[in-house]
Amino acid sequence: MEPKIEISPITEWGLNLAYPLVIAGPCSAESEEQVLSAAHVLASDGRVKVFRAGVWKPRTRPGGFEGAGEKGLEWLKRVKDETGLIVTTEVAMPQHIELALKYGIDILWVGARTTTNPFLVEQLASALAGTNIPVLIKNPITPDLELWIGTIERLWRSGITRLVAVHRGFHPYERSRLRNIPKWELAIDLKSRIPSLPIICDPSHIAGTASMVSEIAQRSLDLSMDGLMVEVHPNPALALSDARQQLTPQAFLQMLSALTFHQSSSANNEFTDFLEQVRNKIDSIDQQIIELLANRMRLVEQIGEYKRNNNVTVFQLRRWEKILESRIECGKKLGLDEEYIKSLLQLVHKESIKKQAEILRGNRLTNGE
Ligand code: PEP
Ligand code: MN
Repeated sequence: MEPKIEISPITEWGLNLAYPLVIAGPCSAESEEQVLSAAHVLASDGRVKVFRAGVWKPRTRPGGFEGAGEKGLEWLKRVKDETGLIVTTEVAMPQHIELALKYGIDILWVGARTTTNPFLVEQLASALAGTNIPVLIKNPITPDLELWIGTIERLWRSGITRLVAVHRGFHPYERSRLRNIPKWELAIDLKSRIPSLPIICDPSHIAGTASMVSEIAQRSLDLSMDGLMVEVHPNPALALSDARQQLTPQAFLQMLSALTFHQSSSANNEFTDFLEQVRNKIDSIDQQIIELLANRMRLVEQIGEYKRNNNVTVFQLRRWEKILESRIECGKKLGLDEEYIKSLLQLVHKESIKKQAEILRGNRLTNGE
């Protein structure tokens, strides 16, 4: 039996947090001036209650900016004292927790790479026992709902009842329009599994590009998410991490004004009703199917070019027969009708042949044939 996780409502955390929860600030704390300049603009607006900045940065490859460390915590303390904003930073090791608590950081967050690692999470949970400090838990890099729930459960078992899940999308191995695939259906499933858990969206890490942040933010609000965490930098072009996806504080505040926040029926945690939840999951899956078809088409184009350069015919019967056979077999195992898979594949195949024929024709045209 799964333990019943009950999260205490955000409004009862004694931090004077408003609903929806709006968190903004730079990806990384880079200098005292950068942090304070962003914080003052955000604080003057009144809608942002929580200021974020990473001081220990998990970089995919070594050699990049790895954060300001303890100095950054001093700057965050100054933000808190000067602006009254609540401050949050990422912790990935017990030492980080110790330091963050020492500097009066109000809320901690567990990053996507840490959520992925049960050993580390267990260590964080032990270090947090007895504090009941609020913790934001980002989804793991991989679309594994159990791993996300596992982290929430580990912290909750060590007495942390002030938890918020942060949906920041999942790493796409293939090239994708977005930096991280939203897979909204996972967030919806998480909500059904732990109804009292607030879920906010981090549209910055999903989008990966500043111009797409607002589209993702609106989609998350339409799904009744409980708030946003957005990366905001006084001069995004000069940011030492995640430069492409950060908004200026002014652009962020304009975006906030343009977004439609839906009033939620009960208190704050009500997600959409069953039918809408299922439809939202279907929408998300359809979007992924289309992106996969686009990825498939790019590969087909590569083959088309290869065939053109090597004078190979576009249509190859043996290959097509093998495709049909293996996909039908796979579909059957998953309970899908043979005819259904066959007609779907015929459609996909027809378009691929058309595309490759175009590539070949394009070549003849450029050769004056
Ligand atoms: C971040 O918020 O800057 C960050 C590193 O996020 P994530 O853990 O989601 O990649
Ligand atoms: Mn970032």
